Order: sequence, then structure tokens, then C-alpha cells
Amino acid sequence: MKKYDLVVVGGGVLGTFHAYHALQNGLQVALLEKNKMPQGATTQNFGQVVPSGMNTKWQTYGRESLKIYKEIQQQYDITLRENGSVYLASNKEEVQLIEELHQINQNNQYTSELLTKEECITKYPGLRPDYIQAGLFFPEEVTVEAREMIHRLQDFMVKHMSLDYFTNRNVIACEQVNNSVKITSSSGEIFEAEKVIICNGNEFKNLYPELFNSSDLEVTKLQMLQTKSQSNYKLSGNILTGWSIRRYEAFAECPSFFKIKSKEDLDSLQKKWGVHILFKQAPDGSIIIGDSHEYADAKDMENLGCTLNMDIDHFMIEEAQKIMELPTYTIQNRWFGMYSQCKTSDVFQQTIDDTIHIITGIGGKGMTGSAGFAKENITQLFNI
Ligand SMILES: Cc1cc2nc3c(=O)[nH]c(=O)nc-3n(C[C@H](O)[C@H](O)[C@H](O)COP(=O)(O)OP(=O)(O)OC[C@H]3O[C@@H](n4cnc5c(N)ncnc54)[C@H](O)[C@@H]3O)c2cc1C
Repeated sequence: MKKYDLVVVGGGVLGTFHAYHALQNGLQVALLEKNKMPQGATTQNFGQVVPSGMNTKWQTYGRESLKIYKEIQQQYDITLRENGSVYLASNKEEVQLIEELHQINQNNQYTSELLTKEECITKYPGLRPDYIQAGLFFPEEVTVEAREMIHRLQDFMVKHMSLDYFTNRNVIACEQVNNSVKITSSSGEIFEAEKVIICNGNEFKNLYPELFNSSDLEVTKLQMLQTKSQSNYKLSGNILTGWSIRRYEAFAECPSFFKIKSKEDLDSLQKKWGVHILFKQAPDGSIIIGDSHEYADAKDMENLGCTLNMDIDHFMIEEAQKIMELPTYTIQNRWFGMYSQCKTSDVFQQTIDDTIHIITGIGGKGMTGSAGFAKENITQLFNI
């Protein structure tokens, strides 16, 4: 039996980038995915790679991720588009916050540009003059197509980095035996490695259920929409709006943030459903619109249900229409995605027997932060 330096369990973005960096360091790596193809949060999301929205720690990982995505894209098409992100402020308070974030980013040497109302209207067609006051643009940021990116990245790693990628391998046990870890799939197949990294996303029933049930992990359900293709209409980059400014961690580092937050109406529908409005044009010309946030403890995640709440859906469309006049708001797709996160820390990390490393709960940061975060983890875990 082949013994690997590393077996990664879970073929989402977090697991795949751990495998990527291990391969970059010359290690022998196998990646095991439960399903025929990954279908977790990694394929359901917006694909906005936006370090600008993150706190200082995660912005560092996100900026490293940008470099990694761009390096890979030069060798292989992983659907990257380099067209920046913008935060659109709708009132004086949000303008104040984007001006403060601009200052913070100048001090961090992260490029951002303040845009006037008129510049925003010119750059983002359909933006309503009665909504927009000013914008903050991040030219280095990128977008990827969530449904495609992970498959292409894995394809690249198999073809050009000698990754051993096994799908339909549902891992049900990991056990330290002498100097190795024995990894068993539900069909009884056994893999052997020096170390295992488990990036199980929000799958908590297969491996170590007691550990997850007693943790502070929670699951978030997000609803998303996609319009029909917009004829003769172009919207460039990641579009984040006023409620994103009031929500994203980066803005919590602005001096005025908490004072501004303290004035918000806690009984609004926006708060009840955790809605902020984001837009992104897909390659087929349609516009993806999101999203909402509903929460349940990991052990009770079924309480989130398996259907879409149409009240949330209608609310998001109504709010989106107040921001952007699109040629059509006819919806062609509606779906929800789920990710896990910790209530009290930024990521869940637990080591068993020195060789089995569980890393999950990256929350809403995964498409942006995983590549940079995994690079640091691999360096530390293998003393590179
Ligand atoms: C609607 C939505 C929008 C989002 N938008 C953004 C965004 O714009 N930007 C951003 O940065 N982030 C975004 N996120 C967050 C991001 O998608 C997640 O942080 C990220 O995808 C989590 O990746 P993961 O690998 O941890 O989990 P997952 O993608 O869930 O992957 C886990 C994988 O592990 C496999 N697995 C689990 N258990 C086993 C087992 N026992 N054996 C084998 N395989 C197993 C699963 O099948 C799955 O494929 C969004 C998320 C959602 C839901």
C-alpha cells in the first residue's frame, strides 16, 4: 500500500488548498472526497475574493490568496476574473466608514480608491442615483465561478502536480497506528499517511461527531438568487453595498463603526434574516444576487430546513431593486448554501494524537482566505 505524506479529507476549497500547498512543498498527497464531486459551500457561493472585507489577520491570508489564485490562473484557467470589488455607500454614515477604511488600507499598503457618486454611476450602469453617495474600489480583487473553480483547480493539481484525487470516498475513521494514520472509507478501503488533515465543511456526522456536537460550531444557511441573462448590460467585479459596509469585519476596525452600529434598528427584516445585498455578473450575463444568514448550532443544523424561505427571497429582490436598475429581475435560479463557523473563534482547529488535524469552520471567508491560510498551516504542520 502506498504511504502518503499527507491525506486530506474533504475536497472543498479549504481541503483542496491544503493539498495544493503540500504538493508545492514536494510532499506525496492524496485528496479524498465523499461525493462524486464536491457540492458543499465551495460550489454554492458568490466566488467573491474580497480581502478588503476582512479583519487585519484574515486580510493578510486573503491578500496571499489573491497572489496564489493569480499564479495558478497564469498556468491554468480556474475561472479567475480580475475586475476589482466596490463598496457602495448609501448615506453619510456609510460614507464615513468607507473613508475610514480607505485610510486603514493606506496604512496597510493595500490599494483602494474612493469614488465619487458620479464616478460610481458611470462605472456601474443601472446604479440608482437616489441610493449611491460614494464608493470604495479595490482594484486588485478578483472573482471566480464557484460552480467551476474547484473542479478546474483539482484538475490542474491532478494533471500538473501529481495529486492523487479519489472521489466517492466517504471517510468514516482515522486511527493512529504506530507511526502512521490509517484512514478508512465507508467501502472499507484503507489509505495510509504520515498525517491527515480533515476539512469536512459542515459534515459533522461521519468523523468525531461527539467532538463537533460539544463544540461551539454553528451552521449558517444563505439564500441566493440568479437573474436571467441581462441583454446588452455589463456589470464589472464584486459589488458590495451599504449593509455589507455595516456587516463586514474590516469595517469593525473603523473608529466610527460601533457608534454607527449602535443606532441600527434591531427589529428590522434586514437584521432578522441577516440580509446584505451583493451583486455579481456571471459569464452568461446573468446577475447573481445575495444573501441572507440564518443560524443553528452544528448539532441542530437540520432546524435550518431544506427549503427556501420565499419571504427572504422577495425581500432581497425588493432591496436589490432599490440599489440597481437591471434590465430584468426575472429570476432563473434560487438556491441556498451552508457553511460552518465558530461562535468564539475565527476557525475550528483541533489536533488528535499529533497527526490528525481537523480544520473547518472557516465561515464566510473560505473562497477568500483558504489559499493563504492553508499555505501557513502546511508550513507549520510539516515544519517547512
Ligand atoms: C451562499 C454562500 C456564499 C458565499 N460567498 C462567499 C464569497 O463570496 N467569498 C468567500 O470568500 N466565501 C464565501 N462563502 C464561504 C465559502 O463558500 C466557504 O467558506 C467555503 O466554501 C468552505 O469551504 P470548505 O472546504 O471548508 O467546506 P465545503 O465546501 O463544504 O467542503 C467540504 C467537503 O468535504 C467533504 N467531506 C465532508 N466530510 C467528508 C468525509 N468524511 N469524507 C470525505 N469527504 C468529506 C464534503 O463532501 C465537501 O465536499 C460563501 C458561502 C455560501 C454558502
